[in-house]
Formats: sequence, C-alpha cells, structure tokens
Amino acid sequence: MEKLKKASLLFHIGLLLFSIAPALIVLLLLLVASVGFALSMAAALLTIALFQFYGLLFVKGAAGNPIPLRLSFWTLKILQSVHTLPHHTPEKMVVSMNNRKALSEAGRKFSSDEVLILVPHCLQNHECLIRLTFDPDSCERCGKCPVGSLLEIKDRFGTHFAIASGGTSARRIVEKTAPSLIVAVACPVDLSLGILDVHPITTVGVLNEWRNGPCFDTWVNTEELEAALELFVD
Ligand code: SF4
Repeated sequence: MEKLKKASLLFHIGLLLFSIAPALIVLLLLLVASVGFALSMAAALLTIALFQFYGLLFVKGAAGNPIPLRLSFWTLKILQSVHTLPHHTPEKMVVSMNNRKALSEAGRKFSSDEVLILVPHCLQNHECLIRLTFDPDSCERCGKCPVGSLLEIKDRFGTHFAIASGGTSARRIVEKTAPSLIVAVACPVDLSLGILDVHPITTVGVLNEWRNGPCFDTWVNTEELEAALELFVD
C-alpha cells in the first residue's frame, strides 16, 4: 500500500512537472494578447489542474489511453538521467499505476482463451538445455526454476502461455495471440515499456525477482500472478 502511495505521488509529480511548460505557454500567450495578469495566471493554473484531472481519470480507469502515464514517465526519465531519481523508479511507477488502473477494471472478466501469460526467458534455469521459446510445454517441470509452476498455473486457468526472448519476440507473440488481457512477468525496464506499448490491451505486470543479478536465473512470485488471474479470468 505504501509503495502504491509513493508511485501515485510520483505519477502526479511527473505530470505536474510536464504541465509547467504548457501552462507557461498559455500564460505568455494570454499576456501577449493583453488579457489581465490575474486571468492569465488563472488560465495557466487551470492548465496544470486539467493535466492532473486527466491523470486521475486514467488511474480510475475512466480514460483508457495511457497518455498521462507516458507524459509522467518520460518527464521522470529526464530527472533520472540527471541522477535525481534512484534506478528504475519511473519504470516501477509505470507498473504500479498500470496495475492500479487494471484493478479499477477488476469487475471485467475475460475468458481463458483471451488471456496470455507472457514471461521472460531469463526465468529458465541457465543449466536447462530444453528450448522453451518455441514450445514451453516441453519443460519437464523439474522444479529448478519457476517455469514448471507457471505451466501448472497456465494449465489450471487454461490460458495462453509464452516465453519471450526479448522485446521484439514479445511484440510478435502479442500480435500472434491477440489477447485481451496480458499478465506479464519481466524486469522493470521491459515491463514498463511493454505496458506503454500494448495499449489498448489490458495488462497486469508482475516484476521478476533478481536473486542472482539481472537477467540471470530470475524468479517470480507465482502467488502474485495467480491472484491477478483469479481476479480477471472468468
Ligand atoms: S522447470 Fe522446466 S525449464 Fe525449468 S529447469 Fe526444469 S525443465 Fe528446465
């Protein structure tokens, strides 16, 4: 809950910082047009308020397009590039706010055939020689990595399941499967960019755990994934 509050605050701060430029443009244009200072200032503040309102509509699920999320994300990325934000903070903000938006649609149910569980290949144990990207079901479910448990969850819910070897592969899988809901597991960078990329498909993001460093024998909390499926799959 604390994490969600922080993400929400960051989302609105990013949006606020972005809205300063259009608000200044409005202020200058009105001043040049000889509208009084008080009115020009009010219009500039209204511009900022409208951006915040659009952000609220997005979070509540009333505005489907993730434009506010994109604006906030890229503004925060600029701050991150000058080292004013810790690593992956804007990315985690996108995942949290997207999940919050998805939760606001939780009354909506999807048939299992409309759902895709999409996971990264770095979940597979590095010693395993089975090639899973073409046929995940060839996994022998030995328990050395979370892929076996994920396949059991897939079988129970009857959803589609795919392992992506990267961003392009993930995009190809999504195009081929054409799901209405994606429950995606990935690192903060891949997950945030994927979420912003696949609109208007509803997406729930689950961050993978880096028990052995990034992109190597990663892990996932399967309970989190199951909870998302229980909420959305009919
Ligand atoms: S669970 Fe499957 S993918 Fe993972 S190591 Fe065992 S056989 Fe390989």
